[in-house]
Amino acid sequence: MQINKVMVIGAGQMGSGIAQVCAMNGYDVILHDLKEEYVERGLQRIGKQLQRQVDKERISEADMDRFLRRIHSSVQLSNAENVDIVIEAALENMEVKKNVFAQLDDIAPDHTILATNTSSLPITEIAAVTKRPEKVIGMHFMNPVPVMKLVELIRGLATSDEVFDTVKTMAEELKKTAVEVNDFPGFVSNRILMPMINEAIYTVYEGVASPEDVDEVMKLGMNHPMGPLTLADFIGLDTCLYIMETLHEGFGDDKYRPCPLLRKYVKAGWLGKKAGRGFYKYE
Ligand code: NAD
Repeated sequence: MQINKVMVIGAGQMGSGIAQVCAMNGYDVILHDLKEEYVERGLQRIGKQLQRQVDKERISEADMDRFLRRIHSSVQLSNAENVDIVIEAALENMEVKKNVFAQLDDIAPDHTILATNTSSLPITEIAAVTKRPEKVIGMHFMNPVPVMKLVELIRGLATSDEVFDTVKTMAEELKKTAVEVNDFPGFVSNRILMPMINEAIYTVYEGVASPEDVDEVMKLGMNHPMGPLTLADFIGLDTCLYIMETLHEGFGDDKYRPCPLLRKYVKAGWLGKKAGRGFYKYE
């Protein structure tokens, strides 16, 4: 199946990155969010990202304009009536995703693939609210999308081979490397990464070391390019908490219990870089 038109749901850090990469690789994109101002914020983020590439002479001004012209704003889900694939990148919350997928299933044409960028939630459960579970798939991009090569592709129980192959081809056209993983909480990436981040938060919570020192140990001692608390701030502490809760609930194992300090920061609105404050402060 040929994909030409893409709709991205959620114009946050992931949705805007996905929209940018799609536009840069020739797709027409509808970028959708709940409010105009949220879409506008996403478009500004894309504009800044592309401008940086112009400044580094990786793309021309004309390229940038061409890419930006391919992205159209939306605050009406009914705009899904004319797209070949929807990539959902809204909140990491099952109720939100089920609600969006049920509506998309009613609106989108029969051939439309419904993909989710969920970091951890079961694809099979999201697919079950639709009448097209064979066309529902996990397409898990990494942050920041324009930079990171990996896309985890997760089949739900009913995902068809045709849909899997179409989405794999699309990922390759986006110049990403697709890795197939099974539908288990956290898939591979976050099942391994998130407990490490959660443990790093516990070491701060228990007074073992400061955030700076925890990050320094992991950077210099383990050769990680970025410390786990810096990374958590980049991912978003709300997203980290949602993922830990999914692992905890999904495996029923207390080794995945979210650190109370993580909960506290999220309750305070200290969501990391996007909120200007998390384990660190941002301008
Ligand atoms: P974000 O908070 O930056 O953006 C989420 C956006 O979704 C917001 O603009 C919000 O207004 C919008 N939104 C919320 N509910 C909506 C709805 N019902 N309809 C339309 N838009 C809605 O979050 P993010 O970091 O971009 O994460 C989005 C998704 O991508 C989550 O499922 C997350 O787990 C996943 N993800 C995140 C990362 C990461 O590093 N942050 C990496 C991979 C996957």
